[in-house]
Amino acid sequence: QMASSLLLLYSIALIIVWISNIVFTQAEPQGIPKELASKLNRDPKILSLASTDYGHIVHQTPWAVFEPSSVSDISSLIKFSNSLPTPFTIAFRGQAHSILGQAMAGGGAVVNMINLNGFRKGSGILVGACDGKDPLGCYADVGGEQLWIDVLHATLKRGLTPLSWTDYLYLTVGGTLSNAGISGQTFRFGPQITNVLEMDVVTGKGDLVTCSKEKNSEAFYAVLGGLGQFGVITRARIALGPAPTRVKRLHLLYSNFSAFCKDQEHLISFSGRKDTNGADYVEGILLLNQPPLDLSFYPASDKKRITSLVTQYGIIYILELAKYYDRNSQPHIQQDVANLVKGLNFVSTFMFEKDTSYEEFLNRVRGEELFLRSKGLWEVPHPWLNIWVPGSRISDFNEKVFKNIILKQNISGGIYLIYPVNRNKWDDKMSAITPDENIFYPIGMLHSTTSNDVLQKFQMQNQQILQVCKDAGIKIVEYLTGNKTHQQWVEHFGLKWKLFAARKDQFDPKRILSPGQGIFQ
Ligand code: FAD
Repeated sequence: QMASSLLLLYSIALIIVWISNIVFTQAEPQGIPKELASKLNRDPKILSLASTDYGHIVHQTPWAVFEPSSVSDISSLIKFSNSLPTPFTIAFRGQAHSILGQAMAGGGAVVNMINLNGFRKGSGILVGACDGKDPLGCYADVGGEQLWIDVLHATLKRGLTPLSWTDYLYLTVGGTLSNAGISGQTFRFGPQITNVLEMDVVTGKGDLVTCSKEKNSEAFYAVLGGLGQFGVITRARIALGPAPTRVKRLHLLYSNFSAFCKDQEHLISFSGRKDTNGADYVEGILLLNQPPLDLSFYPASDKKRITSLVTQYGIIYILELAKYYDRNSQPHIQQDVANLVKGLNFVSTFMFEKDTSYEEFLNRVRGEELFLRSKGLWEVPHPWLNIWVPGSRISDFNEKVFKNIILKQNISGGIYLIYPVNRNKWDDKMSAITPDENIFYPIGMLHSTTSNDVLQKFQMQNQQILQVCKDAGIKIVEYLTGNKTHQQWVEHFGLKWKLFAARKDQFDPKRILSPGQGIFQ
């Protein structure tokens, strides 16, 4: 009964969002300046593309897609909207790898950020030499529309690399910086938003602002983690460090959840930049006794005994860690790895190791993408749920959600990620919000399906998980979320709501930017 009431509530929320899209669909504006009109694309195919995203759940059609050829084009578009008695909304579309319409503008204009790249004339990514002589320091100046994979390639050419990543690299710099950008390096270097030194931003008033912690700092802190609400990032200065060349990847298998968390938290306690003996990357994955059981990381000869372990326990927790190395550290890398795992309590003999290049390691999800694309399983609905759980409640979460909901309901088609991060690596002045504890666990429940029936089951399950956490007083924070009512957004931001709303008044008083989030519309 609880499940069907949740489904009912969820359906009502979706209908409200759908109706509000119709009611508030904006008419095409009059008096469009000539220089803008030629860049507004009304081709139905392009409009249809701009009304979808990676989630394939929400669809909102804009009246036009704007193809900018310069940053000042974006500024002119925003200024034009501001000048109208009824301004139209504007969304920024990077790779549209968001999942709930975050890059859409129903009845408004969608800016195709990728178009900027064609006009940068190769200047979209500039990399400093990091040698004390180059006027560009130890950073890369990167267009907001650039893909992280291209940033990686450009920096590696100079033996350098950004320090903080996402698991998947075909995302734009602006797209991840408007959220947070997290992965297995976050415990040490913080999310991607804390690795930005300076930005150029066009605000919701159309003003171009260069900002940093020292200069126009209100804009700097507002935009990082700001869900595209205050301005569009047209350039970000990303901190770099020396690039390793190779990586030892380890999977350690646990049947005991407390041992798994204790060891993950032990590993992330070596988080100082000088902790060269520590791990460089810590994540975790669940192996569930339900299809699909992905054992691609393991040697063929071990798959049988791993399957038996999963069958025996129902859930196996994989601690995934990586240690980087280069020519200098190669002679002792095996010893370094041995030191790292010494004293960890995984199921003995269930440790697996792979050696890859640094680039291959960072770009590891690309192979999965290409495989899924080849089977027609990439562009399908993704009812994902990403939440951050306070460290003190992670065992309750395991019992109430992983064991009691996910394992029991046995809906196949998910990847489950879980790893701890250190809150002291975040900057609370930025718009991103986190749980209020020193250690919290990003948990990704990454579902995909081709079936409508399964889609509904996952959506219902997601609502049930949120409700169970609420009832148990587990104060989670949702990440990459959308489709909320205004009141739910206010609750989402909690103590930070007043600041978030004040930033909107300051930088986008006419509520033009990023309507797909549904925060202010
Ligand atoms: P879009 O979907 O195009 O836009 C998303 C939002 O960003 C919109 O609100 C938009 O207005 C805003 N935006 C876009 N460009 C700009 C800009 N230049 N300036 C200001 N705002 C802008 N996230 C993680 O943190 N860690 C992960 O490991 C991770 N892995 C992922 C793996 C996959 C397969 C996918 C599909 C997503 C993953 N994500 C991850 C989520 C991803 O970081 C976000 O969805 C991100 O917004 C996607 O970037 P995009 O370029 O596709 O943005």
